[in-house]
Amino acid sequence: MTFSELLGEKLLQHNESGNESNEISTNQLDGKTIALYFSAHWCPPCRNFTPKLAEIFKETHNELKDKFDIVFISCDEDQSSFDEYFKEMPWKALPFSDGNSSTILGEKFNVEGIPALVVLSPTCDKITADGVEEIRVASKKALDQWSQGKRLFWSREPREDEYVWEDTACSLCYLSPLIGSRHGCTHKECNIDLCQTCLPNNKHEHPLVEYLMPKK
Ligand SMILES: [Zn+2]
Ligand SMILES: [Zn+2]
Repeated sequence: MTFSELLGEKLLQHNESGNESNEISTNQLDGKTIALYFSAHWCPPCRNFTPKLAEIFKETHNELKDKFDIVFISCDEDQSSFDEYFKEMPWKALPFSDGNSSTILGEKFNVEGIPALVVLSPTCDKITADGVEEIRVASKKALDQWSQGKRLFWSREPREDEYVWEDTACSLCYLSPLIGSRHGCTHKECNIDLCQTCLPNNKHEHPLVEYLMPKK
């Protein structure tokens, strides 16, 4: 499948001054990895995430612009919320269509909540639907992986005696869900999680503690 078949012939992009958006042909994306960004202005976690994503996108743009792009899929309910929100975004957008296309695309890729980033190969095959989490854990390293057609997180089968920590990734090797014993920092803002294998390689400034067991 091509991006034009998936998204239609036209997308929106800001002009150079950033004041207006222009129609561009979807086939400008051909050959790239793209991330569909499902997001809405009414959703506080989305509004929180958008500036972080925009910063990473701008930082990596020179390096990755021929390989990677993002398309905003609006989950807003009216054109004016779409317009206001899209102003903050340095990437492309699917034109607003009363939520119809976002619903169809969301169902196609099993999007269960927003914000969501669904990363697709140039042939529209899903690389990962965990884009938001991968960005949270690894920032621009995630974009590097995606532009090479790879996801950042990996997984393995747990043994019977091993814990499985849902929604948690190892900060060093990106095992997700984290399996086995989990180590973290008592300073919550540090936001570090390590698997048993990575523990000896850790250079974290604070002493780490082992979590007891996952919440049921
Ligand atoms: Zn690890
Ligand atoms: Zn710490």
